[in-house]
Amino acid sequence: MRKQIVAGNWKMNNDLEASKSLVKKIAKGLKKEKLKNTRVIVAPTFVSLAKVANKAKGTKVEVAAQNMHFEKSGAFTGEVSAEMLKSVGVKIVILGHSERREYFGETDAMLAKKVDAALANKMEIIFCFGEVLEDRKSNKHFDIVESQIRNGLFHLEASAWDSIILAYEPVWAIGTGETASPDQAQEMHAFIRKIVADEFNDDIAENVSILYGGSVNPGNAKEIFSKEDVDGGLIGGAALNAENFITLAKSF
Ligand code: PEP
Repeated sequence: MRKQIVAGNWKMNNDLEASKSLVKKIAKGLKKEKLKNTRVIVAPTFVSLAKVANKAKGTKVEVAAQNMHFEKSGAFTGEVSAEMLKSVGVKIVILGHSERREYFGETDAMLAKKVDAALANKMEIIFCFGEVLEDRKSNKHFDIVESQIRNGLFHLEASAWDSIILAYEPVWAIGTGETASPDQAQEMHAFIRKIVADEFNDDIAENVSILYGGSVNPGNAKEIFSKEDVDGGLIGGAALNAENFITLAKSF
């Protein structure tokens, strides 16, 4: 049975103290919750990762990085490798977030290399993709999403899919307060599951968790998460408040 997941992308927010305090509050708030079949993940900035990972040990909260480089080490100023993430206890990485694609020029080809490097280090990947507003208006959203998934992930062996979590994030809904309707999310998630089934097999498609991201908050999560092919959310703004994030984790 595929897992339900709530993942908080803290982006470039929270210094070390604020990050430690936020993870502590979330872990405390979830301590007594059953959270059946649900994973809770937070992704702080690189500077806070080691301390947050340490604080999260033994709690219901898992910790992810927001990005990584595909090389092991070397002259790549400002970058961090999978090996380095693992050395501080981080085994999950978000790759392909639209902000990385848009502001830092990450291409499908670079992302495919990052995917390979993460998998070679036995890390799990939250792989993000999604169309911009013009793509949706011109009815190209299915083609765009398919090409991002195909270019980033369809070179993988079937066995690698145990380590993949998909995150559909329509760019027009990220940080804008505008969400895709639950039916729009369901329509895209069903499409994604179908292309994975067609390329690999039904078993992989049934077992991969597909998260929705884009202005999810405690007021709209229940309805979005109730859709058959929506297995949870990648959350930005609402993940910065412990109470909101805890509510989201309990929204299934
Ligand atoms: C995100 O950055 O992945 C995201 C979904 O942000 P927000 O929830 O703020 O729209």
